[in-house]
Formats: sequence, structure tokens, C-alpha cells
Amino acid sequence: GKYVYYFGDGQADGDGKMRALLGGKGANLAEMTRIGLPVPPGFTITTEVCSYYYDNKRTYPPQLAKQVDEAIAKIEKSVGKGFEGGENPLLLSVRSGARDSMPGMMDTILNLGMNDKTVEIVASKSGNPKFAWDSYRRFLQMYGDVVMGVQKRAGEEHEPFESVIEHLKDERYGNHNFPDMQLTVEDIQELVSRFKALIRERTGKDFPQKPKDQLWGAVSAVFGSWQNDRAIVYRRKYGIPHEWGTAVNVQTMVFGNMGETSATGVAFTRDPASGEKVFYGEYLINAQGEDVVAGVRTPNPVVRLGKEMPESYKQLLKVRDLLETHFRDMQDLEFTIEDNRLYILQTRNGKRTGLAAVKIAVDMVKEKLITKEEALSRIPADSLSHVLAPIFDKESAKKATKIASGLPAGPGAASGRLVLRAEDAVERAHKGDKVLLVRVETSPEDLRGMIAAEGILTARGGVSSHAALVARQMGKVCVCGASDLQIDYATRTVTSNGVTLKEGDYISIDGTAGDVFAGEVKTAPSEVVQVLVSKTLKPEKSKAYQDFAALMTWADKVRRLDIRTNADTPEQVENAVGFGAEGVGLCRTEHMFFEGDRIDAMREMILARNTDDRRKALEKLLPFQREDFIGIFRSLDGLPATIRLLDPPLHEFLPHDHAQQSALSNKLGIPQEEIAKRVHELHEFNPMLGHRGCRLGIVYPEISEMQARAIFEAAAQVQSEGIRVRPEVMIPLVGFPKELKLQIEIVNRVAKEVIKEKKVKFKYLVGTMIEVPRAALVADKIAEDAEFFSFGTNDLTQTTLGMSRDDSGSFIPAYTEHEIIAANPFATIDQDGVGELMKIARDRARKVRKDIKLGICGEHGGEPKSVEFCHALGLNYVSCSPFRVPIARLAAAQAVL
Ligand code: ADP
Ligand code: MG
Ligand code: MG
Repeated sequence: GKYVYYFGDGQADGDGKMRALLGGKGANLAEMTRIGLPVPPGFTITTEVCSYYYDNKRTYPPQLAKQVDEAIAKIEKSVGKGFEGGENPLLLSVRSGARDSMPGMMDTILNLGMNDKTVEIVASKSGNPKFAWDSYRRFLQMYGDVVMGVQKRAGEEHEPFESVIEHLKDERYGNHNFPDMQLTVEDIQELVSRFKALIRERTGKDFPQKPKDQLWGAVSAVFGSWQNDRAIVYRRKYGIPHEWGTAVNVQTMVFGNMGETSATGVAFTRDPASGEKVFYGEYLINAQGEDVVAGVRTPNPVVRLGKEMPESYKQLLKVRDLLETHFRDMQDLEFTIEDNRLYILQTRNGKRTGLAAVKIAVDMVKEKLITKEEALSRIPADSLSHVLAPIFDKESAKKATKIASGLPAGPGAASGRLVLRAEDAVERAHKGDKVLLVRVETSPEDLRGMIAAEGILTARGGVSSHAALVARQMGKVCVCGASDLQIDYATRTVTSNGVTLKEGDYISIDGTAGDVFAGEVKTAPSEVVQVLVSKTLKPEKSKAYQDFAALMTWADKVRRLDIRTNADTPEQVENAVGFGAEGVGLCRTEHMFFEGDRIDAMREMILARNTDDRRKALEKLLPFQREDFIGIFRSLDGLPATIRLLDPPLHEFLPHDHAQQSALSNKLGIPQEEIAKRVHELHEFNPMLGHRGCRLGIVYPEISEMQARAIFEAAAQVQSEGIRVRPEVMIPLVGFPKELKLQIEIVNRVAKEVIKEKKVKFKYLVGTMIEVPRAALVADKIAEDAEFFSFGTNDLTQTTLGMSRDDSGSFIPAYTEHEIIAANPFATIDQDGVGELMKIARDRARKVRKDIKLGICGEHGGEPKSVEFCHALGLNYVSCSPFRVPIARLAAAQAVL
């Protein structure tokens, strides 16, 4: 087989479509070479070799060594240098590259080929001994760390190589912070020999002098890093299969650290935070590799390169255009300038915020670079939540003390308790605190902490630093490079401009503006929300809204699923309709009973000793419910509303402690002991499987009767106002066809009565939820009476998996860790189990009632993967919470594309 793919001099064995085999980086290096960009020649070892490596006890296919030798010979010929010996040493970089980029997860090795001999040759050939020795020093450090495993031991404060450097600086200059740039050649030579000694001391092995040995060591390290903890955590978080493996890219080194005419940098073809069409990035003069990303020195904005190196900058701008027109997406590129010659080292589709994703996609359609369908399929539906995420309340932010500012790296507003260590962030967040992770800079070790935090704040590093990259991808609020912050890990404090905050104090960041505030700052709705919900912003005043609206219009044209919302109050309904909901898919009537005095009437009803008393209490509840439904029908203005009859166990409505019970006793004139007794009677061992759902209506039909009356009287009222009403009465937790029959009888009888009394005609449907497995299995019988089904996938998941939704938090993480389940079944539909029951229900129901309306109203209704599944099932609609309606609209369109 072919395991090695060469690229160089305008030709490449591979191309941009071969991501699976060559990894993202390798495929794009090949593609860029093909389109004539200045890419240093090299080759890619395929991901198949990675699989082979793990399947065969960490060994390689026998043909590999020969193919690598041939590729190296080709490079040598192309650049006129020799890898093993000769007048002109070939130095290489060894870079990992999975199918999807995994920022910072795997380690890159630069300057490979450096040894005691080559360093001298490079020194004399370049006429720059400091550059040569510093390159060797860096190589030893990277190789020693990544390949030979010389790393911090438990209890050690500093990286061992860094300690050696500090030690030498202290020794020679009496200052362990002495600037790197001012070290002499002799200093660096001394570091080189101390590094070699350190490697020998820690590993018992000598650093390999032979370039070939170095190369194979580095290749093994890259493949090995596919299974390191950081990589595994990352893959788990983003659902990247472990089988994919990584490729290895071996490439001719070019040097950004050859002096003042050299530089290295990273850039985005458009602003990845706002989506603005501006060239965005940063660079460092006389620097190598990861200096820019690591945040060691704070880099310059890329536009300044236009002044410092006008020729290279002009070329770079051309590359920017070419990359965008060729790849037809915003690109994130890495470049290096070696003695005024520009090289491109990497390009990939740039990670971006949800805000930027929308803007870039809509702009690119306008620029005729992509089609509307491409725009739709490109935006991760979930990322629309960034567009709806809150920003700081302007007034509250004005009053807050701004203590620093940095780079806006992840938009949105976040407030939380200051935490300095990732582990503590995880721990505190687990206890329910909102935390904000504050660090000098972040590294891949901090990933778990970053996931747990509301927001991330760093003192060092630019917009392409690790913190910024990860935040952007996770949609976290992030401010980076807030250089005024003095972070003291020892005393656990942060000081900035005269203000000192301790760990646990509140701190707030605005990731859109880059501001840092002491204390807690109130948040306010985003622009889109201000236009659609609070109506405090005119649509024509907001570009963000217009882009959003354009996208939604395109989505609506494509999708086949209707999008409804789960809403219980007229206000929520209004918001959801603003977001594009086409009806209510679930109105939980019980939520209405908790407001104001209603709970008293509700409690009176529950405490009633006989049917008569219960009816009297229900009479009091009726007008409240009717008013609510009137409001909802008006807000819906002709759209349908699925209203579920009372569902939770009655026990939930009663007061449980002594003080509350005695207050209720005074209010209702019922002796306290009697209340306590009734509470005790209603106690259930397993209320989720207890006396709830339609079981309430079976035992107390008068409850269903009152609710039906409230619904229909409201319907009659609103219909008579000239607004069309479309109530759909939904009976919960049905498992037996007879349950539904009995409830439907009540509903139909009341409807008839109300229509007669009010002399108003309206149409309504009666249907049921499918939320226990039995209902799915007898769906044909149930469908004889039900005019619609709504899959209540929260309960259906609980009852199918036998997992309590409220208690699963303690074991679900272990289940994902062991890969027993791919995702939390309460977030993403368990397609094999719950999904199979849905299919059975669909097929059996449609056999009996061809046009039965099918929907879903669990939390899953707003989750893109589940929406896709519902589309495939051929449901009529999904229903989700108001703020997820736009996400569902987009996801439903993507399901078609
Ligand atoms: P990552 O996937 O973490 O971005 P890369 O493989 O892109 O890792 O390498 C990190 C950095 O190393 C690059 O941004 C680039 O600056 C530097 N680098 C990699 N290969 C070369 C090379 N052939 N010449 C010069 N610098 C290189
Ligand atoms: Mg890179
Ligand atoms: Mg339910």
C-alpha cells in the first residue's frame, strides 16, 4: 500500500479532499501546493499507519521505511539539502494532523536534524550562530519533552528545561527573568550541553544524534500522542471517533527566527469573533513556531506587517484572497517569513463564534462565493445560541469597576466566582457555583476547567492563543491578554489597577468588548433578542439581526418539519412566536398553578375530603386557567396550541415543612394535623412512576373536566373576538387505550356543552403523549381515538431506559467515559432504544389513522441531532423551548440538505 504522500514544487500526491487519509493539515498542504502557494516541501504519513500502529503493538507496516526514505530523497533534491550529512543540512518539522483539527492536542517538533555537527554547519552557513544554536536548543527542549518524556514530575514547580534556563540566567546575570533575546551564543551553547545532560539524567538515554533516529522517534511520538489524556478528553467532548487516528506531516523547516527580516504569524481571512471582513491576525518578528500561539511575547496585529515588511504583506494579502476563493470559506492560516520570503505552513476552515458564523455565511452568499444551501449547512445549529446569548446590561456595566481590558476573544457576557486553577473550576462548578477561570495563560491541561467555567480570562496571549481558540470553539465567553492583571497563584489573588480580588470573589468579563470588571455585572439580552423579544431595538438598526433574519428565511424555505415551542405563559408564547415558533407543542398547565394565590386554590382542591369540596375548589381555579388560555390563544393569533392536562403528582403542590403547613392551615381553616396527614398520605416512594398523568384524571375526573372547560371557554371567548383558535387537548402518560377513551369522553362532553352555552363554534383535537413504552407498542389501538401523538421523550427516555432523569447525573459521566453511551440520552435521543419505539409507534399509528399528526415535545426537540432524527422519522413537528426555536429551524433545514 501507499503510506506516504509527497508534496512540493507545485505538485502533490494528495489533495484537499483526502482529509480522512491525510488528515486535515496534510490534505490542505497538498491542496495549497497544487494551487501554487509557497509551501515548503514535505510528505504526509497516512492515518492508516496510525491504525496499523495501534493494531500491531506499536509497529509500522514493513513498506513504510522505504517510502519515507524515498520521500526524503525527493525533498533533498527539491531544496538542495541533505538530511544525513552534506554541506547543507536539511532540517524538518514533524507535525501531527488529525482529520478534524484538534488545537494544541498533539505536539509539533521543529528543527529536527539538528545535532552537534549540523549546528556548526548551520551556524557558519547562515552567518548567524545565535540563530543556529537557539534552534538546536529549542529542538532539544521539544524533543526531550515530547519524545523522550522529560516532563514536570509531581511536586515540581517548573518545567525541567525551563528550570535549567532560569538557573543559568540566575547564575550568569543574577536574574532568573533575564530576557531570552539577550543571551549570548556561549550561554545558549551551555544550555545545549546542560539540556543533553538533563535528558541523560532523567531518561538514562542519550539524546539521539542521528537525524534518522530523531525522525522515527518523533513520528512515534506523534502517533503516541493520539492516545494521550488531552487528546482523549478532546475527542470525547467533540465526539471524534478514536478510530480515526492522526496523520504525521514531515516538512522542510523554514525559519522565522533568522533575524529582523524574518517573522512568523497566524491570521484569519476574516474576523473570527465578529465575522467582519477584515484581515485579522498577529505575528512576531524574529520568532519561531509556537511563540505566537504560546503567548510568550505579545504579538503585533497583522496589519502592522504592511509597514514592517510591505512586500511580504502584499503577498500575504494575495494569499488571503486566493485561499478564500479556493476554499470558499473563512481560513485560518499560518505563515512564516524567512529572510523576506513568505511561506504558508497551514490553512484550515477557521473556527468562529456563532455570531461570526452567521455573518460570514450570509456575507459569502451576498459575495456569490457560496450558495444559500451551503450557508445553511455550514453553521452549526447550536452555535445560534451565541447570537441569542446575553450581553452585559449597559447600565449595570457603567456602574461596574472596570479593572482591565484585553482582547475580545469569545463574545457574550459572563460573571462568576474567580478561580485560578482548572481543577478548582471543575470542583466548584460541580457544586453549582458559576465560576470564571482566570489564568496567566491556558494550556491543554486546563481543558476540563475551561469546559466547567462560564468564561475564561487570561493575562497573556493573543487572539490565537490557546484560550481564545478553545473558547471560540466551545462558545465560551473569553477575554485574553489582559496584561494589567497580576495573577498570583501562590496567594490566590488577582490584582489589577489597584483592585485586588481573592479566589471566590465575583468577577465579570465582556467577551465582545474585551472588558474585565470587578464584581457581578447584570446581563441584558443580545441584539437579536432585543429586536425580537423586548422590541427595544428597531430591526433596521441591527446588522446582526438582519443577517440572522436572512438566514432564518432561507432555513424556513428548505425545512419540512414545523417548529413549535414548549411554553406555559402568554409571554413565553409571544417570545417563541418572535423566534419563529409555529405553535405551542406543549403547554404545561400545572406551571400556571404556582403563580400568586392560585397555589392556595390548588392546595384546597388537593386537600378536599370529597368530590363536592373538590369541585368547589376547582371552581376557583377555573377562571385563572381560562385567563391564561385566553392570553395564550391571543398571542398565538391563529397558530395551534397543544395543551396538556395536569401531569405531576399532587404531592408536588403541597407544603412540606411545619411552618408552611401551619400558614396554610390558618388560610384555609383546615386543622394543621389534617394537612400533615394528607401530605403523608400523598407521599409516594417513586412519584415519577406514581399517581400522575392521566391517572389523576381517571381517579379525579372532575380535574380533567375543569381543565377542559377552561380551555374551551377561553377558546370560545377568543374565537368570538375574531381570532382563530386551534386547541389541541393532550392527555399525558397514557399506556392503556381505555385510559385515553375515558378522558376523551370527558373532553368531548365539555366541548359540546361549552359550544352550546357560548354559541361559538371552534375546532379542536384530542390526542395523547407517547411517553411509556406500552403506549408505543399499542399505538394502533390508541390511535383509534387519538387525533395526534406527541412523543414525550423526557419521560419516554426515563421509562425506556429505566433511568431517572433527576438522578442520572451521578452515573451518566461514567457511562460516557466508558463509552457505554455516546451521548447523554436525556440530551440526544437514544436512537436505538427510544428511537426504535418511536418508529414502532409511528408505523402502528399510521396504519390505523393515516393522517395522524406526530410531534415531539421533550427537551430533544431543540437538539440538532435529535431534530435530524425526527425529520428522518417523518414527524410533523418538533417542539422546544423558546430560545431554541431558531436552532431547531436551522437544524430542520440542515436535516433536509
Ligand atoms: P498545531 O496543529 O498545534 O497548529 P503545527 O503542526 O501547525 O501544530 O505546528 C505548530 C507551529 O510550528 C506552526 O504554527 C508553525 O509556526 C511551526 N511550524 C511547523 N512546521 C514548520 C516548518 N516546516 N517550518 C517552520 N515552522 C513550522
Ligand atoms: Mg498549526
Ligand atoms: Mg411526561
